[in-house]
Amino acid sequence: MVAPSETHEVFNQSPPFEDVNLYGSDAALIEAVEREGGGHAAKSLDAFGKVAGSAEALERGRIANVESPKLATHDRQGRRRDVVTFHPAYHTLMRTSCNAGLHSSVWAHLGKRGAQRAPGAHVARAGAFYLAAQMEAGHCCPITMTNAAVPVLMQEPDVAAEWVPRVLPFEYDPGFVPAENKAAVTLGMGMTEKQGGTDVRAATTVAEPIAGAGPGREYLLTGHKWFLSAPMSDAFLVLAQAQGGLTCFLVPRFLPDGSVNALHLQRLKDKLGNRSNASSEVEFQGAWARAIGEEGRGVATIIEMVTYTRLDCAISSAGLMRFGLANAVHHAEHRTVFQKKLVDQPVMQQVLADMALDVEAATALSFRLARAFDRAEDPRASAWRRLMTPVTKYWVCKMAPPLVAEAMECLGGNGYVEEAPLARLYREVPVNSIWEGSGNVMALDVARVLQREPLAVATVMDELASAAGDDQHLRRAHARLEAMLQEPKLLDARGRTLVEALAVLSAATILRAHAPAAVADAFIATRISGDPRSTYGQGLEHADVRAILNRASPNAV
Ligand SMILES: Cc1cc2nc3c(=O)[nH]c(=O)nc-3n(C[C@H](O)[C@H](O)[C@H](O)COP(=O)(O)OP(=O)(O)OC[C@H]3O[C@@H](n4cnc5c(N)ncnc54)[C@H](O)[C@@H]3O)c2cc1C
Repeated sequence: MVAPSETHEVFNQSPPFEDVNLYGSDAALIEAVEREGGGHAAKSLDAFGKVAGSAEALERGRIANVESPKLATHDRQGRRRDVVTFHPAYHTLMRTSCNAGLHSSVWAHLGKRGAQRAPGAHVARAGAFYLAAQMEAGHCCPITMTNAAVPVLMQEPDVAAEWVPRVLPFEYDPGFVPAENKAAVTLGMGMTEKQGGTDVRAATTVAEPIAGAGPGREYLLTGHKWFLSAPMSDAFLVLAQAQGGLTCFLVPRFLPDGSVNALHLQRLKDKLGNRSNASSEVEFQGAWARAIGEEGRGVATIIEMVTYTRLDCAISSAGLMRFGLANAVHHAEHRTVFQKKLVDQPVMQQVLADMALDVEAATALSFRLARAFDRAEDPRASAWRRLMTPVTKYWVCKMAPPLVAEAMECLGGNGYVEEAPLARLYREVPVNSIWEGSGNVMALDVARVLQREPLAVATVMDELASAAGDDQHLRRAHARLEAMLQEPKLLDARGRTLVEALAVLSAATILRAHAPAAVADAFIATRISGDPRSTYGQGLEHADVRAILNRASPNAV
C-alpha cells in the first residue's frame, strides 16, 4: 500500500549489509587463520566477527567519522590544554577492540614470569584486526601503534618494567590523567617532521640530557613533529637528535610529578579519510623524555615498531578489500537488472570474481606473513618476515584502492553516496600505502634486502621453488624472477617490478596449495600467465566464476 504522500513503492534495493558475522561469512579468512596456526582462536574470532559486523558497530564507525575529533589547544582563560575530544562512538570502538586484546594480546606472556608467547598469537590477533578494520579503520591506528611499541619498550628494561604492564590489560581508559592512574594505556609514534618523513635522519628535533646521557636517561626534547597520530595516547616513541646522533625516546603526556608534559598540539590534520583518528602537528618545548637504546641508534631501535605496523597495514588493507568485495557481492545478489540478478549477469560475474581473486591473494599473503612473526626464531620464518614484510605491505596496500573503487561501482550510484560505507572506505584505503613506508620506500627496502641479505633471499626463493612444484606457469614465473635477481645493477630501478613479482608468485603458490582449484587456476591464469590487463573483469571467461563467487559471497556460508 503506497502512503498518500508517495508516488511509488521502494523495491529492488539491496538490504543493508549489516548484522553479518564478518568472520563466519568469510571462507578465505577462516581457512587462512586455520592454516597459519590461529585455529585455536576460531571461536573467539567468530564471536568478534558478529560484534564487528553488527548494525550498531558499523553505525558507530560511520558516526565516528562524521563527528571527527576536536582539538582544544587552550582553555577559555588562555591556559594551555592540548586535549583532543572524541565522539562517544569512537571510545566505544576503541573499547571493543581493546577488550578483545587487539592492542596487546601477542604480548600477554610478558605479564607472566617465564611464560612464552602463545603459539599462533600473531595469526589469531591478525584475524581480529582484519575484522576490526572492517568495523572501523581509523581507530585501528592507536591500536596498532600500541601493539607495535611493546618490542621497542622491551629494549630498555627500566622503561619496560614501568610501561609494559600498563599496556597489557584488555581495557581502554580514555582519561587524560597520568598513566599510573589508568586501567590501561595507548602509545603513539613521532618520526615525521616537515622537512622529512621517509628521511627521518633529517630530523631537527634536539634532545639535551638532563643529568647524564645514555640508555634510559632523562632528556629534554625541543622541536616539532609534522604528523603525530592519536595525540591523546599516553606516551609516544619519538626520534630526536642527541649528541651521539638520532636517538629513540619515550615521551609521556605527563611528567613523573603528575604535571602535563610540554607537548603542544598545534592543529589537527584535515584528512582525506581516516577521519575518526586524530592526527596532529606538535611542538616539543622542552618535553621530558627517556632514551630507549643508545644515542645514535634511533632508527635501529624504532624499526621494530615500524615492522609490526607494516604487518598491520597489510592485514587491515586485506580486511578492507574483503569488506568492499562483500558489500559488492551482497548488492549484486539482491539487485535485479534486465530481469536477472546482477550476480547472474556474465560481465558482472567476471568483475566480482576477478576482485575476489585479489582478496583471496591479499588475505593469503597477509596471514602467511603473520605466521612468520609467530615463528620468528625459525630462520626460514625470519627470512620470510624480513623480505616479505615490505613486499606484502606494498602489494596489499596498493591493491586496495582500485579494488574498493570497483566495489563502489558495483553498487552503482548508491555506492558513491555517503550513506553506503563504500564512499568512506574509498577515502580510507590509500592511507595504508602512504604511512609506515610509502610504496617506493617499500620497493627500496626490498632492493636493500636483495643486495645485502642474500641468505634471506635464497631461503624465500627456495621456498617458492618447492611450492611451485610441477606447475609450469609458477616455475616459469620463478625462473623469470631469478633472472631479474641476477642483474644487481638494476635492482633499485626495478624495485617495484620485483616487489610485485614476488607478491604475485608468493600468493599464487599459497593459493595453488590451499585454495579451491577454481580460485588458484583463475588467479594463475590471469595474474601469472594471462594477457596483460589493467582493469577488473577480464580474462576469466574460461574460469569457474560461479564457484569463485559462491565462496566469496557473505550470504553463502
Ligand atoms: C593520516 C596520516 C597519519 C600519520 N601519522 C603519523 C604518525 O603518527 N607518526 C609519524 O611519525 N608519521 C605519521 N605520518 C606520516 C607518514 O608516515 C609520512 O607522511 C610518510 O612516511 C611519508 O613521509 P613524507 O610525508 O615526509 O613524504 P616523503 O618522505 O617526502 O616522500 C614523498 C614520496 O617520495 C617517495 N620517496 C621517498 N624517498 C624516496 C626515494 N629515495 N626514492 C624514490 N621515492 C622516494 C615516497 O615513497 C613518497 O611517495 C602520517 C601520515 C598520514 C597521512
